[in-house]
Amino acid sequence: MGEAQFLEKNQPIVFTQLQKSFEHGRLAHAYLFEGETGTGKHEASIWLAKHLFCTDLKDNQPCEQCNNCQRIQRNEHPDVQIVEPDGQTIKVDQIRKLQSEFATSGFETKQKVFIIKDSDKMNSSAANSLLKFLEEPVGLFLAILETDSVGRILPTIQSRCQILHFQPLSKELLQMKLKENGLGLQTAKLLSSLTNSFDKAVEISQNEWFNEARDSVQQWFNYLKKADPQAFIYVQKKLLKVFKEKTQQIESFSMLLFFYQELLLEKASGRSLKEIAEINQVIELILQAEQKLGTNVSFQSTAEQLALRIIYK
Ligand SMILES: [Zn+2]
Repeated sequence: MGEAQFLEKNQPIVFTQLQKSFEHGRLAHAYLFEGETGTGKHEASIWLAKHLFCTDLKDNQPCEQCNNCQRIQRNEHPDVQIVEPDGQTIKVDQIRKLQSEFATSGFETKQKVFIIKDSDKMNSSAANSLLKFLEEPVGLFLAILETDSVGRILPTIQSRCQILHFQPLSKELLQMKLKENGLGLQTAKLLSSLTNSFDKAVEISQNEWFNEARDSVQQWFNYLKKADPQAFIYVQKKLLKVFKEKTQQIESFSMLLFFYQELLLEKASGRSLKEIAEINQVIELILQAEQKLGTNVSFQSTAEQLALRIIYK
């Protein structure tokens, strides 16, 4: 999928705003693209660069065919510079190199574009160097800073940029990206029910605790589904050992909720209304238990009561 289609579908607000600015010749000199990993910040940067250099715009969109579009796509265009962290940080030398290249006019055109990925990773001398550059621009350029944590960008830099917020990933897109990252469908679905951040989801999935937690709740769910009294004993036997912290305990209910919601989707096609109503009733009970845990009731008694209510409903 080209950048334009991706942005139009997933970031319609940003897409429209940039497209209009472009059409009216009102692009800012500097943009700060702010949003989680995978929300399309870099796609937007590349799309904007192609917009500026494309020699054959079609319906005001980059043609993707001309020499300029192709070179930008391959990251080989001399007037489009991309800076990314060298190790953990972006260093002052990287910004200085950029500046010296910009001091001469564009190689092929007057316009130049520079894109800084993970711009929150600039160390303070790099950030100050960039700030000076933004304050006293040399030549015609467009600066695009990408970040997933805008709070770590110097306020003085922020004030020189037009800030565009990228919306969080839809659950559907997050699941797709997690699958591309090698996770199974079920795990991708579970993770997307716990968070809407791609980075966070990957972090959770790599956590050993998460895998044990998921398996334990799955087992608990299997007992509950069959109204097996084991579900009650299992709370003390297993869950208390796995879910120790309050935040983990709340997560155990979120996971259980997930399994029941999946069951509901499964049953929704072809099973009886009575069964569906029963599952909805259980979902309601889980939500109540989750709320109770927010107060000072212990995890053990909440989980045991929940088990009893589900078994003997
Ligand atoms: Zn083109």
